[in-house]
Amino acid sequence: MRLSQTFSRTIKTIPADEQAINAQLLIRSGMIYKEMAGVYAYLPLGLRVIENIKNIVRQEMECLGSSELLMTTIQNKEVWELSGRWDDQLVDVWFKSQLKNGTEVGFGWSHEEPLMILMSKYIKSYRDLPISVYQFQTKLRNEFRAKSGIMRGREFLMKDMYAFSRSQQELDMFYDQAKQAYHKVFERVGLGPYTYLTYASGGSFTQFSHEFQTVTKSGEDIIYVDKKKHLAVNEEVYNDQVLRQLDLKKNELEKLKASEVGNIFNFGKTKAEQMDVYFTDKSGHRQPVYLSSYGIGISRLMGVIAEHFNDSKGLIWPEAIAPALVYLIAIGNQKEAELSLELYNLLTAQKVAVIYDDRDVRPGEKFADADLIGIPWRVVVNSKTVTSGKYEIKSRSLDKPDYVDKESLVNQMSRIVSRLAIKS
Ligand code: ATP
Ligand code: MG
Repeated sequence: MRLSQTFSRTIKTIPADEQAINAQLLIRSGMIYKEMAGVYAYLPLGLRVIENIKNIVRQEMECLGSSELLMTTIQNKEVWELSGRWDDQLVDVWFKSQLKNGTEVGFGWSHEEPLMILMSKYIKSYRDLPISVYQFQTKLRNEFRAKSGIMRGREFLMKDMYAFSRSQQELDMFYDQAKQAYHKVFERVGLGPYTYLTYASGGSFTQFSHEFQTVTKSGEDIIYVDKKKHLAVNEEVYNDQVLRQLDLKKNELEKLKASEVGNIFNFGKTKAEQMDVYFTDKSGHRQPVYLSSYGIGISRLMGVIAEHFNDSKGLIWPEAIAPALVYLIAIGNQKEAELSLELYNLLTAQKVAVIYDDRDVRPGEKFADADLIGIPWRVVVNSKTVTSGKYEIKSRSLDKPDYVDKESLVNQMSRIVSRLAIKS
């Protein structure tokens, strides 16, 4: 990516209408654009972060044997009436509209019910199970308040996965594997140490649902964390009986603010019974399909990461999801520009993502933008490079640069790329 060819610009002043750090930094660095409150567009740099997060999530879901599909945004009222969730009293975030002929339709805030009906056309016998599917989809929710930047949008990107099982035992097995996959996702995006499996309300079959909560001052939830066990309890279910049940001690828990980046539910057979989704078992009997569902807020995750990794100069992206690994700056004239272009080509040939700042602006501006955009490694080509063959390389999170020759620089960066890829 050459900056001279992109349209987005960094902004010096803090947007007056944004209180959330994530929105301030992401707008200032040219990653997102605010269409209106709670509604954001993703610009080229921001979209790269989203795609990097999606790819990590996609790899981990594929490891579980799940298959990707894409459901619709326009939804059928009748499907939602089967479970009673068409009701605005029960679901207070619906966006609804009407077709020209007066037929009411809803806009997808969730996809459990439509997917149950879709899958019921394919699940007939025990041979069709277990099966799991997932998607990345824009969800539309008429949220009452949208003041946390991309952490709470009226339009946001979610990964939702659904597993269909033949028994509670089969469901539980998948549920545990999915939990592990979720831990891997949060580890890989850089939030592992700050993200806790959290007992929460909302399992319609079991007593609890499990949330993945990332500790952050800007979070809307309160959780009680046992750091030693790396577990937490959401305030909404926190009481003496629950603590006893989970073998947690009050005096070992820390009360912290957190943001829910993921949520997994065990519905047991309740949804299938509501919606009449059955399969024929080995002995020819009709049995309800067991459902579990697994969400990750992709855009919220990006917001939480932005909240977590920054300093007074700007963002500090973890390598695995950064819009690029290297920010390349040339200072000087033609010779320096030639060396930069050569390095740019060498790095990109090794699959190292590079932002080449080839704009006709002062070096100071380039340095400031490299920091604001938060690219993990900054490489400078200047007159000393021309005479000594040494390139200046600096980590975004350190003050001191190193001076290395071309080969070791390319090796160092491509080693990082292979390390990040191997984790899958
Ligand atoms: P919350 O309690 O934060 O309102 P939820 O329980 O309604 O979220 P789910 O329906 O379980 O959320 O959605 C799965 C995931 O989608 C959540 O864990 C969260 O990461 C993300 N998410 C939910 N609502 C929003 C939103 N308005 N903006 C951005 N991400 C969201
Ligand atoms: Mg939730």
